[in-house]
Amino acid sequence: MGENLTGRGSAAKKNRTLHNFAVESRYKNRSEISSGSRWARGRPSLIRKEQSYHKEAREDLKCNESTFVIKAEYTNYAGKHWISQANVQASVIESSQYEEQLKNDDKWTFDVIALERVTKKRPLLHAGLKILRRFNVMEFLDIDDIIMCSWLALIEDNYHSSNTYHNSSHATDVLQAAAYFLAKDKLRDSMEVIEQVSILVAAIVHDIDHPGRTNSFITNSNGYLAVLYNDISVLESHHASLAFRLTRKSDCVNIFQNVQRDQYRSIREKIIDAVLATDMTKHFDHVSKFVSSFNDSAKPCLESADSRKLVSRMLIKCADISNPLRSRNLCIEWAKRISEEYFEQTEDEKEKGLPVMMAIFDRNCCNLGKAQTGFIDFIIRDMFSAWDEVIPIPELITNLEDNYKFWKDEEERIEEERAQADETN
Ligand SMILES: [Zn+2]
Repeated sequence: MGENLTGRGSAAKKNRTLHNFAVESRYKNRSEISSGSRWARGRPSLIRKEQSYHKEAREDLKCNESTFVIKAEYTNYAGKHWISQANVQASVIESSQYEEQLKNDDKWTFDVIALERVTKKRPLLHAGLKILRRFNVMEFLDIDDIIMCSWLALIEDNYHSSNTYHNSSHATDVLQAAAYFLAKDKLRDSMEVIEQVSILVAAIVHDIDHPGRTNSFITNSNGYLAVLYNDISVLESHHASLAFRLTRKSDCVNIFQNVQRDQYRSIREKIIDAVLATDMTKHFDHVSKFVSSFNDSAKPCLESADSRKLVSRMLIKCADISNPLRSRNLCIEWAKRISEEYFEQTEDEKEKGLPVMMAIFDRNCCNLGKAQTGFIDFIIRDMFSAWDEVIPIPELITNLEDNYKFWKDEEERIEEERAQADETN
């Protein structure tokens, strides 16, 4: 199916991206709304629909200065990957109801699980908007908040809320962690704005449409995506590709529409590079390159674009697997969620007669404490100590060691419990 990016022309009638779109915002003046927005201008039926949505929205919310709403309904394909008559209906109420959960968005203690609960599993839209504003991303991209909201809603809609781990709460968690690292003095002063914007966007989309199964499962089951991407970084390639295909579907979600061609190419290259860096099969390559460039070097080193690229990769990787460095309750919650997703994969593998790729994640015999200490011992500790050498994060390292002790105790407790149960049987 050919793509019509603007929704104009005869193809657009048949395959129209945008049916209704209404906005009310302090960021958009009322005369512009009443005369129809950019994409509806000159199309009377759309203007009528827009105005009726506008009226409905105002009635719904009894709008005031700090409130805005977006209601958008899309029915379209995203290339071959169906966003299945996706109804993107976002009501963003920037008001006191999420203030409490959003107030720590720049702190490591930020509780994304609480935000997930109050937003009814739409944390990405709300935290995303706030964090992107803080980094002036909309100004850099020369778009208004409405387009960013629509894009965030569309991206969030393409995460699977049925996944226990790889859902939009995880994306929000990674975005928040990435933003936290970017705000550290050393990075804030040395990373170019385009690099910061690219990292934040990459964090938002980095697991979009994740099926809740790993690359090895998809490859072993000869899945469509494995064939499409030749078994190489299958999911990461899909996340990056889908993000761009969705973004260019319509001007109302195209956050890059006002970016110059050269700059767009640069942003696109950086986003793809960062998303691909989250492939854990390349983990040790990325960490050792980072270590040899930074930790072994006597001179500080963020001056070259190449070294900042290594930092960007390491930054998104650290953000992606930072759960063991979060406060205890969050650390435990994420550990339970990832285990549940892996348990389901193991069951699926057994059912389908596929090789079991992560034997320790069998719900009948898994020792969660042992799984977590193993993860910290083999992956987390080395990576974060290398990161800490360049970007000091002492309080996070303290959390990590506290959590490690907790998991070690858990590991022993579970083993003892099982040994006692075996004796009684
Ligand atoms: Zn991830």
